Amino acid sequence: MKKQTYPFTLIPLPYDYEALEPYIDKETMYYHHDKHHQAYVNNLNKALADHPEYHSMTLPELLKSLSSLPKEIQTAIRNNGGGVYNHNLFWAAMTPQASNKPVGRLAAAIDDKYGSYNDFKAAYKKAALGRFGSGWTWLVSDKTGNISIISTANQDTPLEANLKPILPLDVWEHAYYLKYQNRRGDYIDNWFNIVDWQQADILYTEN
Ligand code: MN
Repeated sequence: MKKQTYPFTLIPLPYDYEALEPYIDKETMYYHHDKHHQAYVNNLNKALADHPEYHSMTLPELLKSLSSLPKEIQTAIRNNGGGVYNHNLFWAAMTPQASNKPVGRLAAAIDDKYGSYNDFKAAYKKAALGRFGSGWTWLVSDKTGNISIISTANQDTPLEANLKPILPLDVWEHAYYLKYQNRRGDYIDNWFNIVDWQQADILYTEN
């Protein structure tokens, strides 16, 4: 998925719309993927259409060099390129066959940094609740493998800060409103039941 270049396409969900029930409902998954995510893909392609000099760049390459892009497309790439990239990571971060606890080297790093998985969850939830308005919460790592929890506004990505995404959580209302309405905290608690910790460990350990 990281190798895609213009024109970008909507990556299919790696499971059925209803696969993550009861934690995330089928209707939310359908609108979130087929409508919201698709719109980011369409608008990203629209922004790049008249700029062939960027057609060979991957999404991470574009998002790491936002400040060097022409002014007239910078915001569109930030919002829609970020939207495509973040959602690609988000679908892959969830699974109906969840382990319900971290695995591999990432499990050790989480224990080292936060003391326990429960303490990690509390810190991650706090960051997710603390994001005012729309945005994302992330477990990220830096070049030395040090992990941390950050939050980004809108569709901003950790790539700009040179951080590697390990575990993203979408806290835009469109991610949970149909089932949870204003109860973001319940959405976060339930979401931990479908985290794909294998995938998070792969992102953490790969170069
Ligand atoms: Mn979303």
